Amino acid sequence: MPFVSAEQQKDSYDVIVVGSGAGGGQAAYTLCMSGARVLMLEAGRRYRPESETPMFQTPDKAPLVGVGTPQKPFGFYDATVDGGWQVPGEPYVSANPQPGGRFDWWRARMLGGRTNHWGRISLRNGPYDFKPFSRDGLGFDWPISYEDLAPYYDKVELLVGVYGSNEGLENTPNSAPGCLLPPPNPLVSDLLVAQRAKPLGIPVIPGHRAVLTQPLDHQKSPARLHPGNLTAQKLTADAMRARAPCLWATPCGRGCSVRANYQSTTVHLPPALASGHLDITTDAMVYEVTLGRDGRASGVSFIDRTTGKQRQARARVVVLAASACESVRILLNSKSAGFPQGLANSSGQLGRYLMDTVGSSVAGQVPLLESLPPLNEDGADGHARYVPWWLYKEQLAGKLGFARGYHIEFGGGRRMPGYGTGAQMEWLTGGSYGVKFKEDVRRYYGSFVWFDGRGEMIPNENSYCEIDPALKDKWGIPVLRFHWQWSEHELRQAVHMQTTFADIIHAMGGRTNGPVETDGAKAIAPGGSIIHEVGGALMGADPKKSVTNQWGQTWDVPNLFITDGAVFASNADKNPTLTIMALSWRASDHILERLRRKEL
Ligand SMILES: Cc1cc2nc3c(=O)[nH]c(=O)nc-3n(C[C@H](O)[C@H](O)[C@H](O)COP(=O)(O)OP(=O)(O)OC[C@H]3O[C@@H](n4cnc5c(N)ncnc54)[C@H](O)[C@@H]3O)c2cc1C
Ligand code: SF4
Repeated sequence: MPFVSAEQQKDSYDVIVVGSGAGGGQAAYTLCMSGARVLMLEAGRRYRPESETPMFQTPDKAPLVGVGTPQKPFGFYDATVDGGWQVPGEPYVSANPQPGGRFDWWRARMLGGRTNHWGRISLRNGPYDFKPFSRDGLGFDWPISYEDLAPYYDKVELLVGVYGSNEGLENTPNSAPGCLLPPPNPLVSDLLVAQRAKPLGIPVIPGHRAVLTQPLDHQKSPARLHPGNLTAQKLTADAMRARAPCLWATPCGRGCSVRANYQSTTVHLPPALASGHLDITTDAMVYEVTLGRDGRASGVSFIDRTTGKQRQARARVVVLAASACESVRILLNSKSAGFPQGLANSSGQLGRYLMDTVGSSVAGQVPLLESLPPLNEDGADGHARYVPWWLYKEQLAGKLGFARGYHIEFGGGRRMPGYGTGAQMEWLTGGSYGVKFKEDVRRYYGSFVWFDGRGEMIPNENSYCEIDPALKDKWGIPVLRFHWQWSEHELRQAVHMQTTFADIIHAMGGRTNGPVETDGAKAIAPGGSIIHEVGGALMGADPKKSVTNQWGQTWDVPNLFITDGAVFASNADKNPTLTIMALSWRASDHILERLRRKEL
């Protein structure tokens, strides 16, 4: 019985996986494909993308024309249920609520977590990104290199389906042959960006997104993914056949009922459930890892949110994948005589070195793009093309004034019109109305471009989370308090983004629609707001300076693993989720091997 209540759980499992997003979904898939008996505990409710995804609803069918509200920050049709910047009854604290010191924490309380509505941008970290300290003396090196993770990037790309191309650019790795799907056609605005950015020395190449541009190769890929494991091959092939390629017509943030993009709920969980080895209990809020007398994790304690009762589950191995900050919170709250500062925290490093992505944006209007006919590609959800970081040499030579790079995500074209389409055009129309206003809207619609920088943040001592001494959530679980500070590197990087984006817009013959910020503190988005938070339980080579080893295995408790972004030793400009999945697969292979040898 795959979905089980707390009462229906077995007495013990091989592995408990906490959380069902990218890290948890990947762990459950890998473990179940090799026959491990897994219990997944998910704090949110069960979610059925096939029947709950409003792919084709137009904004006029929604309350308030689908506009964002505190309960639904990304709009009425967004896939997130029971989540957002604030989750009712589950508060958190920013020690310094002022801009620059604030940390915003996005959570999703649903099966599949944030993978139901994420942007699907799936970039590999490059060789430099695993050894940043060796390169410029800042931050920390990972205990693994790109070569250690490359086979797992290949596997994840083959399984979930990622489009893109191999360009052979510096620190922008190629995938193994056959891993990537072909990229989609560029938008007209993409072509114009590429043409005008080239003389500025800025490369524009196909983006990488976890969206199927064609059906997955269900005949060859399963054998590549699971050599010698015929059962896993069949389950994976069946799951691949159940996915349709993209229609290029609907906003991916609502989720995808035809399974064309990656969501844990449509990609990882169906084959894991079909294996018969996975039990899932939803509405199970884990608050503690329990410790046996032998110093090993014996299981977890959780609140059954349907009854409010405290429950226990037992397993040989515990895997935390509740998202970076939530996994840290569970460990900090797991106090015992041997671990008075939280479990697996003998180093005192738990909660330290929290990181997000540096974000800064500029938008503009380009007369060359006015009054164009609508094209099929306009329906696509962006990131057909992007700009990888291109100034590695100048940066290493100290010419930029900041130590780490960024990539550029940009967009244009005509998306599904919604509330706000046609608003705030006075700076172009001079305040027209009536027939003239309608003509103006048609003229300008599709002529806007926007550029979002996504940059590396260097881990620092002043960005961390801890347990708030007073506040508890509605279940009585102590909550997190965040401390946040950018360094000059991030602030200068944000200013560089602003001037670069303005340069590109001007080179396109366009105008920016606001001032270009030269003050880094104003240019940079608040901590956490890019929703790429990682760190807090860094992996390393030294047990005194890190929380886990290269496998995400905690130094202090041998059968306790972390497979979400908490283990990141740095946060490259590349969006983190592909790396979370690759690390999770690698850690799960390690767990399987140790279980086979009866070492766990
Ligand atoms: C709007 C948006 C756009 C994004 N775009 C991108 C992008 O383009 N590329 C990219 O790489 N990343 C993107 N991200 C980030 C991406 O979603 C995360 O990196 C990824 O989902 C992290 O995976 P995870 O498994 O660690 O956490 P999650 O996906 O958040 O899953 C964690 C799960 O654990 C559950 N959980 C939490 N606490 C507990 C508990 N105590 N007990 C039991 N269960 C618990 C949660 O309910 C949740 O289901 C985006 C995020 C958002 C919100
Ligand atoms: S655009 Fe494609 S991937 Fe996105 S929701 Fe629509 S069909 Fe799915």
